[in-house]
Amino acid sequence: MSSSTVRAGTWRNWSGEQRCAPARIVHARSVDEVASAVHAAARDGLGVRAVGSGHSFTDAALTDDVMIDVAGMHRILHADAATGLVRVEAGITIHALSAALATLGLGMENLGDIDEQTLAGALATGTHGTGAGLGNISTQVRAMQLVTGTGEVVELDAVADPEGLLAARVSVGALGVVTAVTLQAVPAYVLHGVDTTEPVDEVLATLDERNAAARHFEAYVFPHAPLALTRTNTVVDGPAQPPSALSRWLRQGVLETGALAGLSEAGRAVPRAIPRLNRLVTRLAGTSVRTDRSDRIFASPRHVPFVEMEYALPRAAAEPALRAILAAIDRGRFAVNFPIEMRFVAGDDALLSPAHGRDTAYLAVHTYRDMEWGPYFRAVEAIADEHGGRPHWGKRHFQTADTLAPRYPGWQRFAAVRARLDPEGRFANAYVDRVLGPVAA
Ligand SMILES: Cc1cc2nc3c(=O)[nH]c(=O)nc-3n(C[C@H](O)[C@H](O)[C@H](O)COP(=O)(O)OP(=O)(O)OC[C@H]3O[C@@H](n4cnc5c(N)ncnc54)[C@H](O)[C@@H]3O)c2cc1C
Repeated sequence: MSSSTVRAGTWRNWSGEQRCAPARIVHARSVDEVASAVHAAARDGLGVRAVGSGHSFTDAALTDDVMIDVAGMHRILHADAATGLVRVEAGITIHALSAALATLGLGMENLGDIDEQTLAGALATGTHGTGAGLGNISTQVRAMQLVTGTGEVVELDAVADPEGLLAARVSVGALGVVTAVTLQAVPAYVLHGVDTTEPVDEVLATLDERNAAARHFEAYVFPHAPLALTRTNTVVDGPAQPPSALSRWLRQGVLETGALAGLSEAGRAVPRAIPRLNRLVTRLAGTSVRTDRSDRIFASPRHVPFVEMEYALPRAAAEPALRAILAAIDRGRFAVNFPIEMRFVAGDDALLSPAHGRDTAYLAVHTYRDMEWGPYFRAVEAIADEHGGRPHWGKRHFQTADTLAPRYPGWQRFAAVRARLDPEGRFANAYVDRVLGPVAA
């Protein structure tokens, strides 16, 4: 008998902008419970969406039918410290995964800037960090277990179903409910992280050199400010030097703290002050240095609520696209008190990975909670379109299946896997309908 908790209820995402009231929310604790929930939904003619930690800005996880929450599936199933292969339940958060790997002397090759997402949720949208030579998180996947649209449990790996694995690594939740994942971890490592400010022009003129010199480089460019914040993380041999709680608080940067919240509130109250505020914050940011376990350097708390759009562009487009966005902000007089974030990842082969087949620069734009984002994001999207940009699947964008299909060489191959694993479109919702279209006949 199933022990999953099932109830009707309401659900909202991290930013509070996406809400739904599913007929059933199933808190599954095992693959059998997931399969039962999918069977029951099929019997009742209902759609199904899996949900993770709700950290997507899009309506990707929304449903009025059946929502399957796999957060209760968070166990390490198998770990081989010698090979680094680790099998985990898919609802584990990146935070819990990182902590468990650390006890095994392992770590993830690269991570994004928060660790609250579930592994399955992070994979589904192509979540990434920065590091020009490193792929997004889905490149660390070696196998996945999935409950398909017919309630069947399948294992996708390079031998049993290589095409299925290439599709499922970044699936927007449209192929089934991912219940377990085998990851390739790496030996644990310590990162030395330096956050500082540097002239924007100097940073933009030396992106290739910076990417070649550091394992992880990223930049935050505030509109109207001549200084950019740069973050450079390199691997070091020495021991981790975790800061005390007090020193961690004192060392938190502009991006993590009340400084950004204060700036955002002040900018919302007096939008014409934003250029001055942006210059002030970059002048005051200073330099901070940390040496710690890799996952603790990658992830920081994000207390300031915001809305985000992020585009994956060919690497060479990073500078012209960023400059075009800055010019569009001036032209449109957009009130933007968040920096434009610039990150780098290596190309990969997952069919719907925004970095598919090309070394990529990601440009992300944000607005503070409740501030108007539509005109700004549309202007940014127009610039991304000129460069063949591909949107982050979990962040705001206005694309449709028609505009996206030509940007993905593997689009038809993904559609064929989807037709095989979810022939009736059980996992479709409004977002999937918009960005992927109907299941192929
Ligand atoms: C503060 C903040 C910081 C962020 N930082 C980064 C970053 O550094 N890099 C980056 O790339 N992104 C970043 N993101 C975006 C975030 O990583 C993605 O939106 C990610 O998908 C969220 O994971 P989640 O567990 O919250 O999934 P959800 O948002 O709950 O779901 C995302 C998608 O995954 C699907 N899904 C969830 N579980 C399953 C499952 N078991 N099987 C199949 N499909 C499933 C859902 O249906 C949905 O389509 C950030 C978001 C926030 C709010």
